[in-house]
Amino acid sequence: MRKVVSIVIAVAVLAVIFGCKDHGAQKAAAPAPPGQHKLNVVTTLFPLYDFAKAVAGDKAEVTLLLPPGVEPHSFEPRPDDVVKMSKADVVIYTNEFMEPWAVKLLQSVATKPEVVDTSKGVKMVKAGPGEEHEHGEADKGHDGHIHHGGLDPHIWLDFANAQVMVENIALGLIKKDPANREYYQARAKEYQQKLQKLDEEYKSGLANCKKRIFLHGGHYAFGYLAHRYGLTYISAQAVDPDAEPTPQKLAELVKAIRSNGLKYVYCEELLSPATAQMIARETGAEVLMLNAAHNISKQDFDKGTSFITLMEQNLANLRKGLQCE
Ligand SMILES: [Zn+2]
Repeated sequence: MRKVVSIVIAVAVLAVIFGCKDHGAQKAAAPAPPGQHKLNVVTTLFPLYDFAKAVAGDKAEVTLLLPPGVEPHSFEPRPDDVVKMSKADVVIYTNEFMEPWAVKLLQSVATKPEVVDTSKGVKMVKAGPGEEHEHGEADKGHDGHIHHGGLDPHIWLDFANAQVMVENIALGLIKKDPANREYYQARAKEYQQKLQKLDEEYKSGLANCKKRIFLHGGHYAFGYLAHRYGLTYISAQAVDPDAEPTPQKLAELVKAIRSNGLKYVYCEELLSPATAQMIARETGAEVLMLNAAHNISKQDFDKGTSFITLMEQNLANLRKGLQCE
């Protein structure tokens, strides 16, 4: 009888001990088998999220900091985002011009995660002619882009750059998890080949088109893409989508639609298609979507839509709009 009582007491004491510990602490106390610890990877924008998932496979838990559907240029980080970054093994962002807020947040993260600036080794180009910023926002840098030298931050829309970004992501993962070096390298290479194939599809798909100019009722996001495939690109807004298009700019777009005999005008994802619709009404053109993939809609996120799928939809819409064979 006494034995039974003492066992009951012992069990009760153990329950109290374990009950007091939080779940995470218990997990940490148990020695994880080698190779079983998953890296915690935090990414800012959708392309990085998709690239990182492709490279990390089942070795990491990759999260997207931006809530799906949120427009990234006006994104204001929340207190919770600093917490997420400080728990991360690796934090991945596009570049200091695209997410100045991320650079700032990282300065207050004491845990020092491995930080990947995916633009390392990418030659950034200036935003198109007439798209330089005019109002001195460069010095503010409180939200949206910093426009130092009028550089275009949308580097992922050149698929050669995208391959460099994938390389940088792989290097960041390897630094934190060198045991799986070969795994990350092999997966990065495989994904880079997919990007190369996409690039070739664009090259051949846009080689024979009746029109070589496209108009965008959005902000200046497709400069890299236009440049890579020898297209002319005009957008209603500059790099910063916060600014409203000027009446002069709208008039210029309407004139360009008419003088080039274009049948389509493009609108962008996540922002109002009002500008494109206005141009369409004025000219009789139709509106098509061109998705710069900064972020992804909730619906596409839930469906698991990939960056490459979005880019293939863009190619189909470009081929339609430019009347390609
Ligand atoms: Zn943008």
